[in-house]
Amino acid sequence: MLRMNKKIAALLVSLLLITSIVFMLATATANTPTSTLNNYNGVAPKYVFMFIGDGMSYPQINSTEIFSGKNTFKDSKTPALRRLSFSNFPVAGACTTFDATSFCPDSASTATSYSTGYKTLSNVINMDVDKKVKYKTITEMIKEMGYKVGIVSSVSIDHATPAAYYAHQPSRGNYYEIAMEMANSTFDFFGGGGLISPKGKNNDQPDVVETAKKNGFKVVNTKEEILALNKDSGRVIAMNPVVDKDKALPYEIDRTDASLSLADFTRKAIEVLDNKNGFFLMVEGGKIDWACHANDAATAVNDTLAFEKAVNEAIFFYHKHPKETLIVVTGDHETGGLSIGFAATGYSTFYEKLNYQKKSYLEFDKFVADYKAKTNADQAKLEDILPEIKASFGLITSTDADAATRKDMVLTDYEVQLLKNAFKQTMIPSGNRKYTDGEVVLYGSYEPITVTLTHILNNKSGIGWSSYSHTGSPVPVFAMGLGQELFNGYYDNTDVFKKLKSILKIK
Ligand SMILES: [Zn+2]
Repeated sequence: MLRMNKKIAALLVSLLLITSIVFMLATATANTPTSTLNNYNGVAPKYVFMFIGDGMSYPQINSTEIFSGKNTFKDSKTPALRRLSFSNFPVAGACTTFDATSFCPDSASTATSYSTGYKTLSNVINMDVDKKVKYKTITEMIKEMGYKVGIVSSVSIDHATPAAYYAHQPSRGNYYEIAMEMANSTFDFFGGGGLISPKGKNNDQPDVVETAKKNGFKVVNTKEEILALNKDSGRVIAMNPVVDKDKALPYEIDRTDASLSLADFTRKAIEVLDNKNGFFLMVEGGKIDWACHANDAATAVNDTLAFEKAVNEAIFFYHKHPKETLIVVTGDHETGGLSIGFAATGYSTFYEKLNYQKKSYLEFDKFVADYKAKTNADQAKLEDILPEIKASFGLITSTDADAATRKDMVLTDYEVQLLKNAFKQTMIPSGNRKYTDGEVVLYGSYEPITVTLTHILNNKSGIGWSSYSHTGSPVPVFAMGLGQELFNGYYDNTDVFKKLKSILKIK
C-alpha cells in the first residue's frame, strides 16, 4: 500500500513537473523578445524598397480606402473599400513609434529608428541622445556592400525623413549641414523637392549644388531633364521645377502638369539605380503629414493616393524581379489624431462629401491672403468670400441658389457662427491675435477661417481630428518579397532596422 502510494506520489510529482515545464515554455514563448524574430536565413534581396508615408497610420490608409471605394450607404447596402495596393501585400505587421523624448515622436527620431535601429530624441538625426555619437545608417552599410542607394521625397530633400537616410546632425533644423552631407555623400540618387538652405542661414556658405556638381553629381531641375534620366545618367540630384514655400512638391490635389509626381520621381530613381549589384531605394510621401497637421482630410487622402502610385512603381518592378526584390511600406507616426467617425455624426460617415474640395488648405490660404491684402478689416464681411468657399469646399448657406438640391452641404447656424468667429480672427494680423484657450484648440497655428472650413467639411463627412501634432498610434508595416515573413507581428520601429539588417546579411 505504502509502495503504491509512493508510486502515485512520484507520478503526481512528475506530472506537476511536466505541467510546470510546459507552462514555463509557453510563457517564455509569449515573452520572447521580438529580436529573435529578426533573424533571416533565406537569400538576400538584390532590390530593396523602403516606403515611408509620413504621418500615415491606419486612419490615413483606411480613410483613403473609404474615399476611393464605394463609400456611400445612400444607394446600396453594400459599400466597399478599395484596398490600396500595398494593403494587399501578403504580410502585414505593426510597430510602435515612441522615441527617447515622447510617445508622440517626430520624424527625425522615428526615421533614425528605421535607418539605424536606435531610439533618440525628437529632432535628432542619426545621433545618440547626448548628440555626440553618430550612428551608421542602413544605407551607408549597404552602399559599402556594393548596392546603389537612392532617396526620394515629396518634401525638400534635406527634410528630416530623407535626411535620416544620409545625414547625422544634432538638429533636423541644420538644413545647410544636412544638404552638405548629401553633396558629399557617395550615394547615387536624390530626388524630390528642393533645398531649404543651399548657401547657409546667412547665404554666405559654399553652395551645396556647386559642391555636389564638383563631387560628380548631375544636378537637374527641369521636367524635361528629369524625365530624360536613365541608367547612364550617373549619380543624380533631381529637384522638382515646381515647389511650394517650403521647397516641397505641390499637394497632389493642387498639382498641375508642370510638376512631376512622387511616382515620376520613384520611376526615375529605379531607372537610374537599376544595376547588376542591386539597390536600396527609400521613398517618402512627406505631405500626408503636413495635410494632417492642418486637419485637411481631402488633401491628406489625395497625397496618400499619390503615395500609393509611387509604391505601384515598385510593385511593377517587383513583378519583373519577383525572386530578387523586397518592398516594405510603412508610416513613421500618426498625425492629427484622425478618426473615422465624429461626435456629431455618430455611426455614419459621408466620405463622398470630400469630393467637393477642389484645393488644399494651403491654396485657400493664398486666396485669403489676397482678400486680406485688398480689403479693409472694418469693411470685411464673410459674405464676400462665400462664392470662393462654395467653389473650394462645396459648403453653402441656406440662401444659396443650390441649397435645395445640395441640402447636405448647407451650413448649419452653428457652423455659420463658427465661420463668423474664425473670419474675425483671420482679419486680425496674425501677430496681433490674442487667442483664448478655446481658440487655441479651434485654430492651432493655422489660418482661422481655413482650418474652420476643413474642420466643418471633415466633420460633415464623419471625420474627426484631435491634434495639430503627431500622436502615439502604432503604424502598420506591409511587406512583399524576400524576407517578408519577418514583418509579421507587433514589434518596435527599431526592429524594422534589425529585420532589414538580417535580411540583407549586413554583418
Ligand atoms: Zn509632422
